[in-house]
Amino acid sequence: MAKTYDVVVIGGGPAGYVAAIRCAQLGLETACVEQWINFKGNPALGGTCLNVGCIPSKTLLESSEQYHRLRHGLDRHGIQVDGIRLDLDKMMARKEEIVLQLTDGISALFKANGVEWLQGHGRLLVDRQVEITARDGTTEVVNADHVIIATGSKPIHIGAAVVDNAEGVIVDSTGALDFRTVPKTLGVIGAGVIGLELGSVWSRLGAKVVMLEAVEDFLALADQQIAREALRQFKKQGLDIYLGTRVMGTEKTEAGVKVQFRDKTGDHELVVEKLLVSVGRLPNTANLAAPEAGLLLDERGNIHVNDLCETNLPGVYAIGDVVRGPMLAHKGSEEGIMVAENIAGQHGHLNYDSIPWVIYTSPEIAWAGKTEQALKAEGVPYKIGTFPFSANGRAKAMEAASGMVKMLAHAETDTLLGCHIIGPFASELVQEAVLAMDFRASSEDLARTIHGHPSLYEAIHEAALSVHGRALHKINT
Ligand code: FAD
Ligand code: NAD
Repeated sequence: MAKTYDVVVIGGGPAGYVAAIRCAQLGLETACVEQWINFKGNPALGGTCLNVGCIPSKTLLESSEQYHRLRHGLDRHGIQVDGIRLDLDKMMARKEEIVLQLTDGISALFKANGVEWLQGHGRLLVDRQVEITARDGTTEVVNADHVIIATGSKPIHIGAAVVDNAEGVIVDSTGALDFRTVPKTLGVIGAGVIGLELGSVWSRLGAKVVMLEAVEDFLALADQQIAREALRQFKKQGLDIYLGTRVMGTEKTEAGVKVQFRDKTGDHELVVEKLLVSVGRLPNTANLAAPEAGLLLDERGNIHVNDLCETNLPGVYAIGDVVRGPMLAHKGSEEGIMVAENIAGQHGHLNYDSIPWVIYTSPEIAWAGKTEQALKAEGVPYKIGTFPFSANGRAKAMEAASGMVKMLAHAETDTLLGCHIIGPFASELVQEAVLAMDFRASSEDLARTIHGHPSLYEAIHEAALSVHGRALHKINT
C-alpha cells in the first residue's frame, strides 16, 4: 500500500529543502522529492542555488575579486605585489568543494531532522498523490495530506543564440560557471543580475566583456539614480555595455562566435570567444502535474498562488521561483517557512515589501523597499536622504569609497519606504534597512540609533539624518 506522509515537498532547492526542514521541526512526517544529479553524477540536494547558482557564483566572485585586488587594488595602499599567477583549475576546484560541502550538508540536515529524501522526478497526480520516477525508470506513488511544490526555474534560451553547455562556447549561467580557461573575449546577452555578476568574474580574471542588453534602461528594477551610478562605474571598469540592442543571430566561426545585433544606430557585428546568454529564467513546470490533477498556472507559466502560496487545489502549495515574485533564494526559503507553519496550524506570514535584492558586483548594489520611480508612479509623497561613501572614514580606509546610500521616507509619516545602496558590502548593510522596515521604523528612528565608528553603517545613519537635512558629515542642501 502507498505510504502516506503529512507533507511531500517536490523540489529540494532553498525553497523546498527549507520548507521540508521546517515541516519536520513542527512534527510533520515529511518527504522531499528531488531529481538533481550533480557534476560528479551523484544525486544532490540544494537545487539551482547551491549547485549552479548563488553559491558557485559567489565563490568565483570572491576568488576573482581577490585576484583583481592583488593585481590592481593594492598600489594605493603602498603595497607592491609581483609574480601573481592565476591557477584557474584550483579556483574551480575550490568552488566545487564548497558546493559539495554545502549540498552534503543539506542531506545531513535532512537525516538529523528526519526528512526522507525520495530521489527522482516527482509528478502531482489527483488527490495529493505524488508519483516518483527514479533514475532507473521505476515508479512509486505516495500519498500526502499536503503537497508543497518547489520545482524552481531554468534559464530562458533564445533562438538567436543556441546554448550548448557541454561544448562550452555559447553557454548559460551553468556553462559560464565552469569555463576551464579565461576567454579573451566574452559576449553577454542580457545585462541583468547574472550577466553582471558572471561578466564581472571573467572580466576580473582578464576577459574583455561586452554586454548586449535589450532594454534602454539599465537595471530597470533598481532605483534609477543608483542604476545610473552603477552603469558609470561598470563602464569605468572596462565593461562595454550596449543598451537597447537586439541580437539578430549568431554564427560559430574559426575566429569565434559572430554575434549580429541591431541598435538605434544600425546593424553591428561582434566576434567573441565565448557567449553567455543570461536573459532571465522560466518556472519549472514541465511534466510536473498530470492534466487530471487540474493544477492552475498563470499567464506567465508560474503556478498560480495567493498571498499564502496556496494553489487552486486544496492542500497543495507552491513556493520559490516556480511562483510569482522575485527569483531569489531567500524569498523562496521564507515562503517555505510560511507554508510549513500554516500547515502546522500556526500563523506564518511574509512581508513581500521588504525582500532584499543584492547584485554582487564591485561595488555591490543592494536595496529593499520602494524605488523613487515607483513612489512617483504611485503618487506617494516622499523625502530623500543620501550619503556618499566618499565621506565615510571606513570606506576611505578600505579604498572603496565610491557609491552612496539613498533612503526614502514617507513625507508625512516619516516611515521608511526604501533604502538603496551602491558601495562596499551593500549586501550586508541593506539588512539594517530590512529590519527597520519590518519593524515599521521611521527614518528618525534610524537617525537616533547609535552606530559604531568608524563603520560603513555610518553611511546609513547619515542618510537617515539627511532625510531631515541634518547629516553631520556632508553639507546638507
Ligand atoms: P531551485 O533552486 O531551482 O530548486 C528547485 C529544485 O527542484 C531543483 O533541485 C530541481 O532539480 C528540483 N525539481 C524540479 N522539478 C522537479 C520534479 N518534478 N521532481 C523532483 N525535483 C524537481 N538568488 C539569490 O537570492 N542570491 C544569489 O546570489 C543568487 N545567485 C544566483 C546565481 C545564479 C548563476 C543563478 C542561476 C541564480 C541565482 N540566484 C540567486 C537565484 C536562486 O538560485 C533561485 O532564486 C533559487 O535557487 C530558487 O529556489 P527554488 O528552491 O525555488 O528553486
Ligand atoms: P534578469 O531578469 O536579472 O536579467 C535579464 C536581462 O536580460 C534583463 O535586463 C532583460 O532586459 C535582458 N534581456 C531579455 N531578453 C533579452 C534579449 N533577447 N536580448 C538582450 N537582452 C535581453 O535575469 P538573469 O540575469 O538571467 O537572472 C535570472 C534570475 O536569477 C533573476 O530573476 C535574478 O533574480 C536571479 N539571480 C539573482 C542573483 C542575486 O540575487 N544576486 C544572482 C543571479 C541571479
